[in-house]
Amino acid sequence: GTPAPLPLPVLGRDVRVPLVTGGEVPYAALDQAASAPALQRVWDDVAAYAPYYGSVHRGAGHLSQLSTELYEQSRRTVAEFLGCRADDEVVFTRATTDSLNLLASVLPAGTRVFVFETEHHASLLPWRAHDVTVLDAPRSPEQAVAALEEALHGAPRGPKLVCVTGASNVTGEVWPVRELARAAHRHGARLVLDAAQLAPHRPVDLAELEADWVALSGHKLYAPFGAGVLAGRADWLRAAGPYLAGGGASRTVTRGADGGVDVAWHTGPARHEAGSPNVIGAYALASACRALREAGFDRLVAREEELLGRLRRGLAEIPQVRELSLFGPEADRVGVLSFVVDGWNSSHFAAALSAEHGIGVRDGLFCAHPLLRTLLGREQDAPGECGAPDAGAGEQALNAIRVSFGAGTPDEHVDRFLAATR
Ligand code: PMP
Repeated sequence: GTPAPLPLPVLGRDVRVPLVTGGEVPYAALDQAASAPALQRVWDDVAAYAPYYGSVHRGAGHLSQLSTELYEQSRRTVAEFLGCRADDEVVFTRATTDSLNLLASVLPAGTRVFVFETEHHASLLPWRAHDVTVLDAPRSPEQAVAALEEALHGAPRGPKLVCVTGASNVTGEVWPVRELARAAHRHGARLVLDAAQLAPHRPVDLAELEADWVALSGHKLYAPFGAGVLAGRADWLRAAGPYLAGGGASRTVTRGADGGVDVAWHTGPARHEAGSPNVIGAYALASACRALREAGFDRLVAREEELLGRLRRGLAEIPQVRELSLFGPEADRVGVLSFVVDGWNSSHFAAALSAEHGIGVRDGLFCAHPLLRTLLGREQDAPGECGAPDAGAGEQALNAIRVSFGAGTPDEHVDRFLAATR
């Protein structure tokens, strides 16, 4: 029989878009790896709280007190969702990019950072002020672990950090996070997990994965924009100065004896949350975490496997389609898949899917230029820019198409995409 639908209705199911050929169709949102639609329940929770929000940690007024309570409760919900250990810190940020830049800002002097070239720019670029070792794209999860072992083995003493993405935003492939974390720890390194793409699809448990930190974005986890998280070991976060200087991060501020300004910073998460906290964002993120936990990742994974199977069976029948993959067709992957269509510029293909079929997919280089160059086997400079479709490029353009789905994706969207691609 048909399995019961996931109890995770999302917004946007009734959005209709015009077609160039006339008429309109329900929009098929097949770019959920970029941002997922918010859960109806998250929206309802936010709407119920909206009349009552006030500024966090800012006074005795009832609404400020209530917001402070909800903000701190949201922090505990997120900590639980991420399997944080008792002494881990949970810092609210704007999103994954912000979280990783925050971590980069607190690294001890002389930290060596190890990243694979396969990383998203958000997990590749923040470390550039440090000594960065970039590892070649591995061809299997085992090779990834071996390559990291080898690089760490030859590294000098001193603080070391490995940054790795749990599920690729390009291939959807799942990386061996725990094995990489163990390899890191064997060599005295720490590991931060970029869970932007993993967390919406699989349970992320810091303790179980043995990772030191995790970063994620609310807007990919069925909450609206504005809030993300960096969670993990407190020591480096407490030892470094604040990510942003300002109110909220400062415990006491005095005129210094030298005529300047002296400050004592907070130690807890507030140290890196200067400014008025985004309580609505944190509340929405926590609401999404609760909804996902209650629905259960088992069911979510089962539904995605169904959709992925449907998509790949269909694509396998189209000889012009070449799937992009590092680890091969049998690799474990989330609901994210990229490919090129022989004879087509991917950006033109994506534009046609939108204009003629009401289907939204991503095209371009997915903010992962080195990975795309490796996957497409081309050395020339990319014509497109991160975040923008390739402009005016010919058929040889270095770009690809990505289809990604989530909890609310119906079979019909996948079927329409396949019919349009055939
Ligand atoms: N890491 C990965 C793997 C991603 O897919 C993304 C978003 N595409 C990011 C980091 C950055 O997330 P955000 O834009 O929310 O900061």
